Amino acid sequence: MSWQEKLESFKNGVEKRNPGEPEFHQAVYEVGASIFPYIEDKPWYQEAQIMERLAEPDRIIIFRVCWEDDQGNVRVNRGWRVQNNNAIGPYKGGLRFHPSVTQSILKFLAYEQTFKNSLTGLPMGGGKGGSNFNPKGKSNNEVMRFCQSFMTELDHYIGADMDIPAGDIGVGAREIGYLFGQHKRLTKEFTGVLTGKGMEFGGSLIRVEATGYGAVYMLDSMIKSVGSTLEGKTICISGSGNVATYATEKANHLGGKVVTLSDSSGFIHDPEGIDAEKLAWVCELKTVRRGRISEYCDEFPSAQYYEGKRPWMVACDVAIPCATQNEISADDAAELIKNGCIAVSEGANMPSEQAAVDMFLEQKILFAPSKAANAGGVAVSGLEMSQNSARISWKEAELQKLLQDIMLQIHDQCEKYGRESDTYVNYLKGANIAGFIKVADAMMAHGII
Ligand code: GLU
Repeated sequence: MSWQEKLESFKNGVEKRNPGEPEFHQAVYEVGASIFPYIEDKPWYQEAQIMERLAEPDRIIIFRVCWEDDQGNVRVNRGWRVQNNNAIGPYKGGLRFHPSVTQSILKFLAYEQTFKNSLTGLPMGGGKGGSNFNPKGKSNNEVMRFCQSFMTELDHYIGADMDIPAGDIGVGAREIGYLFGQHKRLTKEFTGVLTGKGMEFGGSLIRVEATGYGAVYMLDSMIKSVGSTLEGKTICISGSGNVATYATEKANHLGGKVVTLSDSSGFIHDPEGIDAEKLAWVCELKTVRRGRISEYCDEFPSAQYYEGKRPWMVACDVAIPCATQNEISADDAAELIKNGCIAVSEGANMPSEQAAVDMFLEQKILFAPSKAANAGGVAVSGLEMSQNSARISWKEAELQKLLQDIMLQIHDQCEKYGRESDTYVNYLKGANIAGFIKVADAMMAHGII
């Protein structure tokens, strides 16, 4: 059988075993398309069924989460933890609280996390969890009661050397605080069982900035590799959470001009650029007042708000999608390319639909896939774990240096395994292969389990 036939039969199997889970299929196929040709002449990986084993999570824990709202009504949500693979370290990955959360989404995220964590070079396996709970519009007390109920069940399956959750969409410092408090209350232990903690109780400096900064470091390395810089480049960013805001900050530092930000209702376009002052206002809007991005235009009249639209229609040199999965369609990708976009660095997880990825690769634009581009966040989570184990706190300068080194090392690995010619690196292929090798070799070493 050719590798193409093997990939086809693998896909059929994945589809049969995981019906109705399109996001999970998408993530697994995207990796498969890089790995099947790579392992064609490496029968040991094929005989050990590594790709089949990676696509079967170690386990999935599903549970009911009941809580009481401020009016005294009983509310019911569903909670999950997907423990995908712990070949190279304990399960590690965030928790997502969003009404769109399904098992398919958490399975794709846990699968991606396995490769991403491997790329960081730190000893972390892949996991992800969350709930269809919507924190938007809930009071702090409601969020606290939900988190306490969620942790009461999740607590059975996590531990500082077993599975270390963190934040993701809808889970920030407030939620991590409540989750940590409930874990401590249940176990009577103070351990580094969650990352993204407050600085008062074991958190790490630059954790909140790390994902956005990392995505821009990756972008900067790619652009430098073709002899250019970010200086003067017009940049479209989506999202307005911690990834988007710190990507904006770092892009500004490196001389770029960020002109868009968004939320689930629409986007703002500020042709004059979103400078440090405007960005501080956005951070306050999103983390303290928990308002909508449309309010930006009331404060800064140079901007325009586009209801229900995505920022990819705005002409830019570089795009950094930092909102959510599948936020760049094939049409969006065509628009970006038509307008002269030369690079895309994925701050969110799997923000480009497969057809959009195919177009970026076909056009040979600089494309950093999420598992490489946004690995800075989980990398600093790994550094938070190290600090917790050693009961120390590193200084900001040390952490900044470690983050930059890790992102550079990820860029270089992608280059090593993804170089297709003197002038072109397929970063997607490079990231998939580099992430795969370490996990696959560890699995081989552990035997058939
Ligand atoms: N949710 C983030 C990610 O997608 C961070 C996970 C973590 O810090 O464990 O990588």
